[in-house]
Amino acid sequence: MGQDALGRRAGTPWRRVSRRQWLAHAAALESIPLLARASFAVDAPAFPHDPFTLGVASGDPDASSVVLWTRLAPRPLEPDGGMPPEPVNVRWEMATDEAFRRVVASGIAPATPPLGHSVHVEVPGLAADRWYWYRFHAGDATSPVGRTRTCPEPGVLPQRLRFAVTSCQNYEQGLFTAYARMAQDDLDLVCHLGDYIYEYEAGRNGTVRTHAGPEITTLGGYRVRHAQYRADPLLHGMHAACPWLVTWDDHEFDNNCADDVSEETGVDATAFLERRANAYQAYYEAMPLRSASRPRGADMRLYRRTRFGDLADFLVLDTRQYRDDQPNGDRRSPLNDAAVDPARSMLGRTQKSWLCGELLTSRATWNVLAQQVMMGLVGFRKGEDPLGYSMDQWPGYATERAELLRFLRERRIANPVVLTGDIHSAWANELRVDDRRADEPPVATEFVATSLSSGGNGPERPAGLDQILADNPGVRFHNGERGYIRCEVTPAAWRSDFMVVDDVLRPGGRTFPRASFVVTAGDPRVQPA
Ligand code: FE
Ligand code: CA
Repeated sequence: MGQDALGRRAGTPWRRVSRRQWLAHAAALESIPLLARASFAVDAPAFPHDPFTLGVASGDPDASSVVLWTRLAPRPLEPDGGMPPEPVNVRWEMATDEAFRRVVASGIAPATPPLGHSVHVEVPGLAADRWYWYRFHAGDATSPVGRTRTCPEPGVLPQRLRFAVTSCQNYEQGLFTAYARMAQDDLDLVCHLGDYIYEYEAGRNGTVRTHAGPEITTLGGYRVRHAQYRADPLLHGMHAACPWLVTWDDHEFDNNCADDVSEETGVDATAFLERRANAYQAYYEAMPLRSASRPRGADMRLYRRTRFGDLADFLVLDTRQYRDDQPNGDRRSPLNDAAVDPARSMLGRTQKSWLCGELLTSRATWNVLAQQVMMGLVGFRKGEDPLGYSMDQWPGYATERAELLRFLRERRIANPVVLTGDIHSAWANELRVDDRRADEPPVATEFVATSLSSGGNGPERPAGLDQILADNPGVRFHNGERGYIRCEVTPAAWRSDFMVVDDVLRPGGRTFPRASFVVTAGDPRVQPA
């Protein structure tokens, strides 16, 4: 729809008229380092309220550095966080012990109004493969203590990696109980695959608690929403437990968005990109991301790689920002001509060639694609109709999907594992170039994490489960409860525990493993643990 009016051609998602208007905005963002010079900042304001209501976080570790994050917000539900319109110096310190007896790095970072008084510190020169503790001081206030770690060096084969996969945490539909259990799981990392916030107005899904304010579109609105979520002690407690790798899906911006195209008809692309710039900036401000991810207007580079020694390469993807509009009006459809149109892309050309390059040069035992939407071609039956597939997921981009699977097979990429969120249910899938061909050998494995809270309590056996398993030979497991996936990876095997919560509508829900599966290195089949 919108892309024709803009003159956008298939395969060139970057070329659009409205883009030019963002150059000025990008230039303005470029001036932030100047504004951020510490000499402009206030050193010691006395805070009438605790400015560390959002806790601390860390992320994107490599073998010698990690990002430390906080955001000053004494009143988190106000657009400016309750901060004065001036920069404030924040002191940070990092130690090899929890009591901060051995501080190994420290410094001063400015929290500035243009970045919502967020702080992103990239600490260099750390030792590989070890744990650290960190905290911040602003004025007379001290933050909670966070724990983080560096990755093992490339060339070293670690014997173990433990991490969790989470997504879809609608604040209104359920409590973040699962994060209390996750914090006890002894994890090296957390991967968040999107729908970290939901953009909807207060009360749309309200059951256990409600969003503040209307559907969010302004920078202030997105900031308040992120702050409301992050003020949840279970969420910021988990951020303090280990580093996170984050990527977004649609709800950090707008439901089922595709590049500059809204799910609703008649939305002006320029206005939509203006809203996207607000969403992306607030996302950057709220997340422990490196400065390489800082947005430029309505563009933000979120796809990137994290290497855990030679054991696992995490290729964190962005399947929202560059995709062509969903075919077939984004309705569940058979794999028709529109769904298999080779001109349509989910990744965009630049990200796709980056991904292929990373995979070709990887030396990792496990190659992890941490991304948003289900790659399994899962067909759903409705009466006598042909099987229907989700057009918002990889089946809507079926040719690019087949090309990617063929690439993994023909270039013999070692042990590809796809991690997915979005769909509010758990799946373990064997992926083939064409999943409908049970006679073909599987090429990769997909683990889909259910929602942490979105949708409220769900069934252990989703409706139509037997039919889904009968119609889709690649699907080995499917479950409709809330929870997350806990993974333990060694050079020999990958184990996924599907953790579920018995009740997210009341405090005190019990979290436990519902099912566990193993993939042996060299064999992408899903086997019961
Ligand atoms: Fe979701
Ligand atoms: Ca989603």
